[in-house]
Amino acid sequence: MPLTVHQFPCLSDNYGYLVRDEATGLAACIDTPDAAAVLAQLKALGWRLALIMNTHWHPDHAGGNAEVQAATGAKIVGPAEVRRIAPLDRELSGGETVELGETTFEVIEAGGHTLGHIAYYDDADRIAFVGDTLFALGCGRLFEGEPAQMWASLSRLAALPDETTVYCAHEYTAANARFALSVDDDPALKARAEQIFAARERGEPTVPTTIALEKATNPFLRAPLLAARVGAADKPAHEAFAAVRAAKDNFKG
Ligand code: ZN
Ligand code: FE
Repeated sequence: MPLTVHQFPCLSDNYGYLVRDEATGLAACIDTPDAAAVLAQLKALGWRLALIMNTHWHPDHAGGNAEVQAATGAKIVGPAEVRRIAPLDRELSGGETVELGETTFEVIEAGGHTLGHIAYYDDADRIAFVGDTLFALGCGRLFEGEPAQMWASLSRLAALPDETTVYCAHEYTAANARFALSVDDDPALKARAEQIFAARERGEPTVPTTIALEKATNPFLRAPLLAARVGAADKPAHEAFAAVRAAKDNFKG
């Protein structure tokens, strides 16, 4: 039986996610950006929360852990770094699995934005929760990690099946599209950017995305193909990635 995903906007540009394993009715939230919003959504859905799954320690991801746990009794799993700011019941690292009823999530090491960042992948449903590692047309800033680590993390996500639905933690897509168009003139990107600008005009979300769409249009995943455009011709892939990331960090669009 499948996993149902409920997505809701919160804070200024975060997405919160509640999921339910339909075989057992057990629910989980991916990160706790805003405890009040998570609890209100749970109440509206009538779901009982069994699990909180953190991707990384930043306050807009783990800041609501204590309050959501106090209100629901849910167990908290995530990378050890979450303990910097919030309670955690079980530490996870890449290669482990987490069960929610009959749904199994594989833990994928996704460090770079923070050193311990992880992603969750449900292979049966082809669903990934990637936190602040991979965004629609973007990727997370390297607050703690090095480009080689982030490139390895993005490469692991890019290796998931093409049809995988990718749930990112922020609505950054329009700004990401403006940057992408500055380093890439591929027709698939131009077409997608038009759709994104139109969707945002209408106030619609541009998340989730898919692995296939990101591989075709995301300038960070396409970094080796764009190397010459960012002054990294003939450099290894992670250096091309580093050059695209630096260009984005300096982009005034
Ligand atoms: Zn973050
Ligand atoms: Fe974030």
